[in-house]
Amino acid sequence: MQHAGKSARVFELHIRCESCLKESAREVHVPAVPGAPSDADELVESQYLSSLAYCCARCESAIGRLFAINYRGGETVSA
Ligand SMILES: [Zn+2]
Repeated sequence: MQHAGKSARVFELHIRCESCLKESAREVHVPAVPGAPSDADELVESQYLSSLAYCCARCESAIGRLFAINYRGGETVSA
């Protein structure tokens, strides 16, 4: 059991550049607030991803296609 505290769910996004096809991964920490996505499907359906800016490290394209999401689990962050 976890004690009360700020917690977040960690997802790893795998994104492929639409332009040069370079694949990259980034970790996002979603605050575990009521209504927040609790798994990959909910994350996709939420508005959270659309708020993330993407910029390819190789060609600077701003268009990336998400092709996989790994749920890394929850973590508790000390306040
Ligand atoms: Zn690119």
